[in-house]
Formats: sequence, C-alpha cells, structure tokens
Amino acid sequence: MSVANQLYQLQELDLGLEFNEQALSRIVSRLGESQAVVNAQAKLTSEQQHLEELSRQQHSTEWEIDDLSNKISAAEEKLYGGRIGNPKELANLQHEVETLKARRDQLEDKALAIMEQVELATASVASKSSELKTLEAEWRNQQQQLSTEIEQLKTILSELNHKRQLLLAKIDPQAVEFYSELKKQRGTAVAKVEQGICCGCRISLPTTELQRARSDSLVRCSSCGRILFLA
Ligand SMILES: [Zn+2]
Repeated sequence: MSVANQLYQLQELDLGLEFNEQALSRIVSRLGESQAVVNAQAKLTSEQQHLEELSRQQHSTEWEIDDLSNKISAAEEKLYGGRIGNPKELANLQHEVETLKARRDQLEDKALAIMEQVELATASVASKSSELKTLEAEWRNQQQQLSTEIEQLKTILSELNHKRQLLLAKIDPQAVEFYSELKKQRGTAVAKVEQGICCGCRISLPTTELQRARSDSLVRCSSCGRILFLA
C-alpha cells in the first residue's frame, strides 16, 4: 500500500472517529433529568396541596354545621319543652334558633360550593397524575434508548481506535506527522484524485503531477496543497 493510500485510510478513520465522537457527545448531553417531568411533578404537587386545603375546609365546615345542629336541637327542645313560660324569654329563644338556622344555611351553601371545588380538584389531580406517569414512562424509554445508543457508539469508537493504532504502526512516523500538520491547517490532509481532478479543491491536475502521484512518493496538489491519493 502506498503512503498516500495509508494516509487516506488514516483520514477515513479519523473522520469516522470525529463523526462518532460528535454523535456521542450530542447523545450524552440529552441524558439526565427531564424538564417536562419536573414541571409536571410541580403542577401535580401544587394541585394536591390545593385539594388538601379544600378537604380541610370541607371538614371544618361540616364540623361547624354539626355543632350548630346540636345547638339548634337543644334550643328547640327548650323552646317547645313547655318549661319556659316567660314570653320574653321565649321570644329570645325563638330569635336565637332563627339566627342559628340562618348561620347553618350559610354554612351549608359554603359546604356545597367547597364540595364542587373538591370534585374539580380531585379530577385535576387524577389527570395531572396520569400526565406525569405518561411523561415519566416516555422519559425512561428515551433514557434507555440513549443508553443503548451510547453503548453502540462506544463500541464503534473503540473499534475505530483499534484500527487506527494498527494502521499507525505501519506508517512512517514522519508521514504521519506531515499528515497531522496538514490536517490542522486544512481540515483534511489527503485528497482523492478522480478523473484527473483533485477532490480537495476541484482543480484539474497537470499530467506531470498525476504521473508523480502515481509513484510511491508523497505528492501535494499544486493548488490546495493536500496530499494526492490516486485510488
Ligand atoms: Zn487540490
């Protein structure tokens, strides 16, 4: 194999390594916490807290209603028990019963309104909870898939590196150094020649240059300076 061919193979391996390393770092950057899951969790927590607060209000209102009902029963017992003869006292008691009943009516309206809110909040908690579960499942699948892709890319990279080591051992170190320097300058160091044209710069090469490139020596394109490789 000519030196130009060896360097061309080296370049192919280097391009493959760069391509796969870029793919790997893109995938690695997508690993980790999902903002969508974090947001969905925050929404669910806030809705759960809202529901708990409503339940507390519901219980305390029910407790107040029970308390008022007991007071009303006791007052009515006195009122209709026949043991009170004083008309003023009876009138006061009647007024007390009416006040207590009005207060209880208010609280019963409030309890109904809270119950409606509890129903809405319960439905909202259920839907946010299932939304979160869906997002978490998607996220887990995605992370699983990314991990698989990472493993595959690592295998490819290690194979490419192994091939590169084997190839490097066969190439003249000075030629490798020359190649590396040229690669730094121009991005690619070796240009294939196809139908007399340098694929690095698309210039038609002079016959003498093509003839020299056919020999085993390293010939550079007179236009772009890349090492010419005739397949
Ligand atoms: Zn060229």
